[in-house]
Formats: sequence, C-alpha cells, structure tokens
Amino acid sequence: MNVIYILKNSKVSLELNFLIPFLFIRNMKRVCIICGKELKNKEDVICETCKIKSVVRKSKKESIIVCKCLRYKKGNTWMDPPLRYYSSYPEYLRSILNRHFPSHNIMEISEKEAILKNEDEIKVIEFLGGTCDVCSRIHGGYYEGKIQLRGTKSFIEEAENKIIQMIERIKHPLAFISKINYLKEGTDIYIGTKTLINKIKKAFTHHETKVSKELYGVKDGKKVYRVTLLIREKGDTHGKKRKTK
Ligand SMILES: [Zn+2]
Ligand SMILES: [Zn+2]
Repeated sequence: MNVIYILKNSKVSLELNFLIPFLFIRNMKRVCIICGKELKNKEDVICETCKIKSVVRKSKKESIIVCKCLRYKKGNTWMDPPLRYYSSYPEYLRSILNRHFPSHNIMEISEKEAILKNEDEIKVIEFLGGTCDVCSRIHGGYYEGKIQLRGTKSFIEEAENKIIQMIERIKHPLAFISKINYLKEGTDIYIGTKTLINKIKKAFTHHETKVSKELYGVKDGKKVYRVTLLIREKGDTHGKKRKTK
C-alpha cells in the first residue's frame, strides 16, 4: 500500500529509490540462520540441510577410509576405486557413495563428510585417511614372487623390460614390483604376488625356466610359500656367453 502511494506521488520518488533495496531484502532474501543459505520455503528459519544435520548429529556415523592410492575401506575390506580419473576429489568420493548407496540422495558432500538421504533414513558418512593393505605391503618391501634373470646383458635388459610391462598391464592389486636387485650374476625382480609367476613363465618358453617354492611363514593356519622363477637365456651355460659380450 505504501509503495503504491509513493509511486502515485512523484514528489517523493527520491524516497522510493531509497526504499527499493529494503523492499527486496524483505521479500526475496530469507536466509538460513545457521548457514546463511537462501531459503526455498519462506516460512522456514533454518534450511533443509541444517535441519537434517541437527537430526543427524545424534545418529551414528559410518566411516570410509580412503588411501592415497584411491583404494578405500568400507567395513572390513579394502576395495578398488570406482573411478581412476576425476576432476575433483569430492567427485571421486561421490562415485564411491553412488556405488554403495545407489538409492540415497547425496544432500551434502565435502572432503570430510557426506550426508545421504532416502525415504527411510538419513546417513552420515565420514571420510578418513589411511594406508591400504597394498600400499602398506609396497612400503614394507613385501613380495611373494622372485624372478631371477640370467644370461647376457642384452637378454637380461630385454627380459626385465618385458616383465615390467607385463606387471603394469595386469589388473591385480598385488601386481607391483617391490624391488629390483642388480647382481653380478644377473637381475632379481621381486613382485607382490606369486599368481603372476606362471604367466611370466609362459612368456619365456623359448628359454630355460625353473620354478621353486620356499616356505616363508604361516598365515591363518596355512603355510605360505614364496615362489622363485629362474629364467636362463637359452644357450647360456653359467655365464660363459656373458663374458664374450
Ligand atoms: Zn542452513
Ligand atoms: Zn593404497
């Protein structure tokens, strides 16, 4: 009513200019008293997210541990990342949530926490940092298999490159090289899992190969073996050929 009155009365147009910003603030900007976000429903005092948060604060948090290598632990198991390439870290975390909670909506997500909601419940997921089983093995110099390369220098170099490329291509969490030793008699490559030994052996059928097992411990009541694969260049008799090169 006031506005109409002022508009009709051109003498007070200065006053109207002065009033406009206040009219807008009154009618358009209703913000949440907790986070300051604009409110959709003008009758509300706090926003939907803050309302959920106040309910959720009392509920138990579920946590997901994420390693630097992107493997993550949910419950008791470490899992491979659902995405290898992503534009932001929250986007990566979102892909984990979509994998495990497909029926929930992600209300809010940050690097530390996410709030999920579906018709029945509200869930808070907390993201923690940690070192996964694979990374701790890599750092601990863990190995299950050893490959001994013997023969001429050129054979050893070629074989070493071939094995490194093979291991890089294999999608197995333990397909890593824990160390390479360059010795007088040849090169020893230590790898994370012995399951690759047979595959590597098959790639060198033209040469002399020998597999041997060595007991190295007991895990969960089972004997654990380390496997050594010896690959000797065909025609190489105890390094005689190497001397000529
Ligand atoms: Zn809010
Ligand atoms: Zn890791």
